[in-house]
Amino acid sequence: MDADLEHLLFIYALQNAVKHNSAPKSGAVIGTVLGKHPEFRSRVREIGPLAGKVVAKVAAMDGPERKSLLAEIAPELLDELTETREHSRELPALLGAENGVVMRFAPNPSGPLHLGHARASILNDYYVRRYGGRYVLRIEDTDPRRVDPEAYEMVLEDIEWMGLGITDIVYQSDRLDVYYDWCRKLIELGGAYVCVCEAERFRDLKLKKKACPCRDRPVEENLELWQRMLDGEFYEGDATVRVKTDLDHPDPAMRDYSAMRIVNTPIHPRVDATVFPLMNFSVAVDDHLLGITHVIRGKDHIANTGRQRYIFDYFGWKPPVYYHYGRMGISGVVLSTSSMREGIRSGVYTGWDDVHLGTLRAIAR
Ligand SMILES: [Zn+2]
Repeated sequence: MDADLEHLLFIYALQNAVKHNSAPKSGAVIGTVLGKHPEFRSRVREIGPLAGKVVAKVAAMDGPERKSLLAEIAPELLDELTETREHSRELPALLGAENGVVMRFAPNPSGPLHLGHARASILNDYYVRRYGGRYVLRIEDTDPRRVDPEAYEMVLEDIEWMGLGITDIVYQSDRLDVYYDWCRKLIELGGAYVCVCEAERFRDLKLKKKACPCRDRPVEENLELWQRMLDGEFYEGDATVRVKTDLDHPDPAMRDYSAMRIVNTPIHPRVDATVFPLMNFSVAVDDHLLGITHVIRGKDHIANTGRQRYIFDYFGWKPPVYYHYGRMGISGVVLSTSSMREGIRSGVYTGWDDVHLGTLRAIAR
């Protein structure tokens, strides 16, 4: 019997030491043993000295020794430790989220949602549930080339299937006047200009860190050109609004990027317009106007975060807190909407719910 009691005390002392990575505490060990084996409660007097003896023995070992001995003589107690750690694992806290958050899920309506969308949307959903607040679904449909009219409905269906706690829905194509307005303000501030250079010429200058002739045009002339863009006096590619950034920026893609452009074809399925914001402009304006507090998105957006920062700085807006997570790939699963669409068209896949695709429809099926 003594051997049993001593053995129990010994293995729980080991577990206690491994758990806290320090010498075991006699009181805690006795408490655990009596809690799990009430039959020893009648022998409480003997336990003290026995516990003292085993605790001293365990205290004399080092960390790795304790762990390997525990793994050998009572592996289930070691497993218990890792299990507890997994159960209590929680996603990291968000900075400044104590009083609630406003977060967003912002898909393009270019096809149904896939696992990449699920990851982004469920992470955001988790934090809105954790801290309370609003969860904005923002349909980013300002690139007519990336809009599939049928996708609007599919996106909503997929969101319902995931059970996201969306509180607000915003369609960017309903907000073109808002972007036009802020574009004009940015031009007035001297933070943007209308560029009428040929794309190739601008690219050459940009790579040489040189300003194009449009950059220093007076504000009044820029406003006039902007109005002419809106009036349909320019054709696709003939004029674009550029944000003045830093021509010396080490990344050429950050130098004076486009904020507004003309798209004549295809015709947008929801709005009658030819001037559309590019995502970095509309995203910055909307994140501010919708009061987005935290943005969780993939690392592939880090450069965009840098571009959007210029807009926040020009207007003196406080940017949201950004978090970027690593890329995801699942071997053998297609996650690119354009490759999926191509495969469906060419007959490689049977449809959006083909089991080779990473769409939520395929998983549901
Ligand atoms: Zn130019």
